[in-house]
Amino acid sequence: TAPTAAAKDAVKAADRAHVFHSWSAQKLIDPLAVAGAEGSYFWDYDGNRYLDFSSQLVNTNIGHQHPKVVAAIQEQAAKLCTLAPGFAVDVRSEAARLIAERTPGDLDKIFFTNGGAEAVENAVRMARLHTGRQKVLSTYRSYHGATAAAINLTGDPRRWPSDTASAGVVHFWGPFLYRSPFHATTEAEECERALAHLADTIAFEGPQSIAAIVLETVPGTAGIMVPPAGYLAGVRELCDRYGIVFVLDEVMAGFGRTGKWFAAEHWDVTPDLLTFAKGVNSGYVPLGGVAISGAIAETFDTRPYPGGLTYSGHPLACAAAVATIGAMAEEGIVEHAAHLGENVIGPALAEIAERHPSVGEVRGLGAFWAVELVRDKETREPLVPYNAGGADNAPMAEFTAACKQAGLWPFVNMNRTHVVPACNITEAEAKEGLALLDEALTVADRHTTA
Ligand code: PLP
Repeated sequence: TAPTAAAKDAVKAADRAHVFHSWSAQKLIDPLAVAGAEGSYFWDYDGNRYLDFSSQLVNTNIGHQHPKVVAAIQEQAAKLCTLAPGFAVDVRSEAARLIAERTPGDLDKIFFTNGGAEAVENAVRMARLHTGRQKVLSTYRSYHGATAAAINLTGDPRRWPSDTASAGVVHFWGPFLYRSPFHATTEAEECERALAHLADTIAFEGPQSIAAIVLETVPGTAGIMVPPAGYLAGVRELCDRYGIVFVLDEVMAGFGRTGKWFAAEHWDVTPDLLTFAKGVNSGYVPLGGVAISGAIAETFDTRPYPGGLTYSGHPLACAAAVATIGAMAEEGIVEHAAHLGENVIGPALAEIAERHPSVGEVRGLGAFWAVELVRDKETREPLVPYNAGGADNAPMAEFTAACKQAGLWPFVNMNRTHVVPACNITEAEAKEGLALLDEALTVADRHTTA
């Protein structure tokens, strides 16, 4: 549709009449009508262009409309659109091979799903069947998806309305030095105390009843808390000691986001199960999955795996994954994300933190950064209270509006904005976005008490 005023009105009218939106009070939202997108930009029907610093929901790791991926989807559509999961299909085989080659250690078998939550559901099911145990441990500062087991594992407030006490989930605190639950003052202390806390949680829950520990390698939506050196290795050790399945959720952190194919590579840890989605094909066609270790795969060598999905390993989604992984490798997109983190985004954010009274901390790696906004740098009081709504959230709402007004589409969660652009954003575009962010932060500065 041409981006005319009439076209915009039609899109908005049908949206308001018939589309039921996620996580929203339907009458209190006004979704932007988007007319098109390319690379790191999208635009509306009124001619406003936005630099996408959110990568949608942190999934368009190769930006919008990558020509190689668009062509691969078109070619696959012309050849074979769909086939049930029970058949062997060339693109599905190839996607599984390319993913398994990149996942750490012996995670060599891939169970495909349509997205991240289903990947987490199936990882938990596999862990329970493999161990014969029921309980699953996860952290408070986490998001794992919005289906039954995944939303119960989730630590953030999106869990509250769907919490079922019978889900068998126990939450614990992960490491986060800036807001240390352990009153630690150094990364080493935080690491040691977080591991001691997890060991205590395991001991008091009963190690023989725990099927899995599920962690985001680098927690994403909850605040991009890069784990201290030694933490993930310590969790691995606890899992080994008690026969607990270690699940790393790389739905957001995987496929280049942290400057490695998978974030686990930074700390040289291999989980027993690894969940992925989003960046696997930048969300061009819904796809997720679980990469499975040799030992867990063996459990289902002669015993049927009791789980499946009509669209598991959908040919269009797999063709998009094959083309995405190919483009990322050919164009050095993972290395580019690492370069952005080290030489462009990291240094610029450090400098922004110096100048703005509202910036309490910046942290991250690759194309995966959080800017923690505070009222007061000394007390670290968040710019808005945890899970604030309405008037309490006004400072963040004003900051968000200032970004959009300037042509920057930000990722915002509670008192944080995340700098999570496409992993192939150019240096010039990244700098442009950082300058717009710098300017918008003056709005947040006005709400500081300093
Ligand atoms: N796990 C993590 C770490 C995520 O960030 C998300 C989504 O943001 C999910 C799981 C859920 O993925 P999906 O929305 O594709 O179900």
